[in-house]
This record gives sequence, C-alpha cells and structure tokens, in this order.
Amino acid sequence: MPTITEADVRAALSGVRDPARNQDVIRLGMVQEIAIRDGNVAFALEADPARAKALEVVRRACEQAVLSLPGVASVSAVLTAERRPPAPAPAGPGAGAHAISLPGVRSIIAVASGKGGVGKSTVTANLALAMRRRGLQVGILDADIYGPSQPRMMGIAGRPQPIDDRRIRPMAGYGIKVMSIGFMVDEERPMIWRGPMVQGALEQLLRDVEWGELDVLLVDMPPGTGDVQLTMSQRVPLRGAVIVSTPQDIALIDARKGLNMFRRVDVPVLGFIENMSWFACPHCGTRTEIFAHGGAEQAAAAMDVPFLGGIPLHLAIRETSDQGQPIVASAPESAEARAFVEVADRLAQALQAAGTAAAPEISFD
Ligand code: ADP
Repeated sequence: MPTITEADVRAALSGVRDPARNQDVIRLGMVQEIAIRDGNVAFALEADPARAKALEVVRRACEQAVLSLPGVASVSAVLTAERRPPAPAPAGPGAGAHAISLPGVRSIIAVASGKGGVGKSTVTANLALAMRRRGLQVGILDADIYGPSQPRMMGIAGRPQPIDDRRIRPMAGYGIKVMSIGFMVDEERPMIWRGPMVQGALEQLLRDVEWGELDVLLVDMPPGTGDVQLTMSQRVPLRGAVIVSTPQDIALIDARKGLNMFRRVDVPVLGFIENMSWFACPHCGTRTEIFAHGGAEQAAAAMDVPFLGGIPLHLAIRETSDQGQPIVASAPESAEARAFVEVADRLAQALQAAGTAAAPEISFD
C-alpha cells in the first residue's frame, strides 16, 4: 500500500469546492490540522458556525475525495469554528485567467517537451545552474508532477519547512531555489492524479512557496501538450517557453505540437533546444551523429523560432544528473557543461530580445 502524505490529502481536497464561495477548500484556507496515521486521515474544516448545516455537504465531499486516494483506509473530517477570517480569494487584477502572480519573480520560463524522456529535466537543471553562474538568482519549479526528478537531479533531500501556516520555504541546492512535489511524496511511488488535483497541486507549489526575489524561475513542465500543460500555460504568467526535443523526427513532431500550444495561449516560444544532438564518446571524444543531427535547428528555422543550441548525448551528463551533481555544477569546464552555458546565454539573449523591461540584465563574456 502506498504511504499517504499530507500533500496527497491537500491535493485531493483542492478538488472540493465550497459552492457558495465558488472556491476550493484549500484555497479558502478551510483545511486545518491534517493528521495521518497508517492510512487513517483526519482533518478539520474551519467554517462559519452559521453555515455549518450548509457545509455538511462540503464536509462529506472532502471525506469522499480523500477516501478515493490509494492507501487511505479511513477519513474523518470535522467542522470547527473559524479561528480567523477566511483567506481572501486570489484577488486583484487578472484573477481568473492569470490567477497566480509572483511579484518577486522577474521572468517565469516554461521548459517543455512534446513527450517524456527527451531530457527536459536534465536541461532545466543545467540551464538553471548555467544562469546562476552568470550571476542570476534562479529558481526551479518542478511541475512534472507525474515524474518529479528535480530533487534527485539537484541532489536535494528532505522536506520543505513552513514559514507560517500559509507559506513554505523552497529547498535549495547549488544556490538555486527548488520546489517539487517530489519533496512531499516518494519518488518511487506511482501517482495517480486527476485533473483538478494536478491543477491544485501545481498552483499551491507556485503560490504558497516563498520564492523571494528571483531573476528567473524555470518551470520543468509535465511532458506533453494536453490539458494540464495548456491550463498551466494559461494560469501562470509565463514570460516565454523553451521546447526541448531530440533530433528524431517523431520527437520533433511532438515539439511542433508544443509550439502550437504555446502560440495558442500567446506565450512566446523563446527557442528550441536539441538534446542528445550528437553522441560524444566518453572514451575517445569522437562525435557521432546517431540521429540525423540538426533536425531541431531546421525545424526551428522552418517554424520561425530561434534555435538555442544543441547538447550532446554524453555518459557524463546522465551520470552526473543521476548522482545529483549536474554537469554544469560538477564539471563546469567540460565541453558538455559549456554546451549548456551557451544555450543559457542564448536564452537570456532571447529574453532580452523579447523586449521586456523585466528581462534580467546579464553581461556576456
Ligand atoms: P525528461 O525530463 O524529458 O523526461 P530526463 O531529463 O529525466 O528527461 O532525462 C531522461 C534520461 O536521459 C535521464 O536518465 C537523463 O540522465 C538522461 N539524459 C538526458 N539528457 C542527456 C544527455 N544529453 N546525455 C546523456 N543522458 C541524458
């Protein structure tokens, strides 16, 4: 039986709404004191006593939502009197389409791929490190909740600590702030997420984390171009997106879908990155173009998207990310690390070219 965590419970509850206020119970700050013991879950729902009767439906819906999680044996939700005024709904201009705003973060950039396994997370981690080396304040939001890999790649273990009852402090590795659902659940545990839960979990990761001042927040997106990605692209004020692809045709077709998705929601695609662009032999250094190298560059030209560069397929890139020591941190002078730094520099230039005052200013060597 999988072990149930508080994050699981919160994610499930974020799919339950208080119909009178048209908000979910997590967003409303109603859920308190989640206790979990051996698959038995208990929590309190803070409520205005005058509405206790009406909220009985919500209470039961909350119990049902948690009960449907794998590994939950029993659920007990109780209504308690409010201790404080209810949390405000995500207010302010833009509530709705762009409900999430992160005032301290200058540029949020999605790192996306049309399908899984093309190295999106590896590229995200190393790009973040390359930008950090250029003096930028960088964060990574691991939004790949189906297969969160940033904790492992960035070599970070442990659980994020709360700052108060609403905000949590991100984890950090190599000078980069990192937040991932992987800190809350076991990496090996397969997760079953339904649409609203995904949305709730992601929004919480963005909104409730104290990111502080960041020049760039890289969002390691879930692979693919389905509803989750689309909603995410609409709800998060993205400054732009980069699409990671391998040179093979099929991956490029998927990259095209990604491009179309971002264009549909008016998010500028800052460029394509070709990962596993060529094979670099770890023994003799010979370069072998296994997959028709250059496919992403040609596709980028044909689709009028900047090409940000290629990253070789190299054993050291895989080994270092599996060891939690990404190559840009562990071997910054290697040719592989330099490939990432070049891509990061072109990305920063693309950001500046996108002409936003809020783009980070960096100087190039
Ligand atoms: P995604 O996020 O697209 O699913 P990952 O970043 O998790 O992909 O990469 C999948 C696997 O491929 C990982 O084991 C990773 O270490 C490896 N990998 C990614 N890029 C490279 C590369 N350029 N050279 C060697 N191995 C790579």
